[in-house]
Amino acid sequence: MSYFAKVPQAPADGILKLSVLSKADTNANKVDLGVGAYRDDSGKPWVLPVVHKAEQRLAEDPTANHEYLGVGGLPALTSGAQKLIFGADSPAIKDGRVYTIQTISGTGANMVAAVFLKQFKQPQDAAVYISKPTWGNHRSIFETAGHEVREYRYCNYTTLGLDISGMLEDLRKAPRNQIVLLHACAHNPTGIDPTEDQWQQIADVIQERGHFPFFDCAYQGFATGDVDKDAYAIRLFVARGMEMLVAESFAKNMGLYGERTGCLHAVASTADAVPAVSSQLNRLSRATISTASAYGAKIAGTVLQDTRLYNEWVENMGEMSRRIKTMRDLLRDKLVALGTPGTWDHVSRQIGMFSFTGLSTKQVGVLRDQFHLYMTDDGRISVAGLNSGNIDYVASAIDQVVR
Ligand code: PMP
Repeated sequence: MSYFAKVPQAPADGILKLSVLSKADTNANKVDLGVGAYRDDSGKPWVLPVVHKAEQRLAEDPTANHEYLGVGGLPALTSGAQKLIFGADSPAIKDGRVYTIQTISGTGANMVAAVFLKQFKQPQDAAVYISKPTWGNHRSIFETAGHEVREYRYCNYTTLGLDISGMLEDLRKAPRNQIVLLHACAHNPTGIDPTEDQWQQIADVIQERGHFPFFDCAYQGFATGDVDKDAYAIRLFVARGMEMLVAESFAKNMGLYGERTGCLHAVASTADAVPAVSSQLNRLSRATISTASAYGAKIAGTVLQDTRLYNEWVENMGEMSRRIKTMRDLLRDKLVALGTPGTWDHVSRQIGMFSFTGLSTKQVGVLRDQFHLYMTDDGRISVAGLNSGNIDYVASAIDQVVR
C-alpha cells in the first residue's frame, strides 16, 4: 500500500478550475472574466511601459548579477514599499516603528503574517475574522497556519453594497482582542469598499474592542489611480496609533504577477518592539523561502526609487484604472439600454479589478455553457477582461440569461 494512501483529495480551487475550463474552450466568442489579471483593450496581458524601462536599465547594468538577496529582501524595494504604503512623511517610519520584509508577493505576505500571528498572537486562542465574502485564499492560508477562521458580515447581497451595520455589529460582538483581516482597498471579490467615514467607524470598533488589524493591500494605485487615496484606511489606522501587519503586493499595480514581488510590514506602537519582531519575521522567512526572489524586486525597487520612473508608474496605473472604470460604466450603460431586468449601478460604483454582478450560480453556469463567458460561481467578473471588442457580446449574453 502507498505511503500516501490516506491522503484525501483536496477541494478543487474554483479559480484555477475555471481557468482550465476557459483555456480548453476554443470558441471564437469566448470571454474570460475569471482571471484577476489586467488585460489591455485588445485582451492581451500588458507589460507596463515603466516596467519595460526598468528592465532595460537592469539589462544594461554591468554590475547586475543573480546573487541571493539578503535576509529581509532588497532594501530598494522594502524602503520604497514602506513609503508607498504609509506615506513618505509617515511618523511611524521616522520613529523607527515599522519593519518591512520582502515576501513571495501578496500570498507570501499573508502566509508569513499568518504563521507569525499563530505563534505570537495575544491571546493564543484569538480567531481570525475575515469578511463574508473574501478572497478564497484567505481562509485557506489562515487555516493552513492553524488559526480558527470566522466571518464578519460585509456584502449586502440585496443592494450589492457594504453591509456596514452588520460588519460593525459582528466586530463589536466578537470577543475582545481578535485578529481582523481587512482589504485596504478594492475588496476582492466584491469591489465594495467602505467610505472614509465608514473606515472611521470600523477603526472605532476595532480600537474599542482591542482587535488587531491585518490589512491585505493587493491593489494600491490600481484601484483609483491614486496611491494615497488607496492607502487611506491603512494611514488612518496608523495615525490613530494602532499596531498592525500589512501585506502588500506588486502583482497588479506593477503588473509583476509571476515575478512574485511583495512585502509584509509590521507597525509597532514603540520602536523597542521592532528588533524582536523583525528577528522573528526574518526567521520565518528564512525557514520557508530562505531569501526572497530578486528579479521582480529589482524592477519594483528601481521604479520606486527613481522619481521620473515613479511618476511614470503612477501614470501607467492611472491608465489601467481609467480603462477599467470606462468598462464598468459601459457595461452598466449597455445593460440599462437593453432594459436588462434589475439595477446595474453597482457595476459602476464598485472599484478595482472585480465586480460582484449579482448573477446567480445558475446564471453563471448558463453563461459559461451556452455563451462561452467565464466568471466565478459567485457572479464575480474581472472587469479587466472586458474590452471594446467583447463588451456588446457580454452585455447581450447577460441580458439573455437574466430575462
Ligand atoms: N490578496 C488579495 C485580496 C488578492 O486579491 C490577491 C490577488 N488575487 C492577493 C492577496 C495575492 O496576490 P499575489 O500573491 O499574486 O500578490
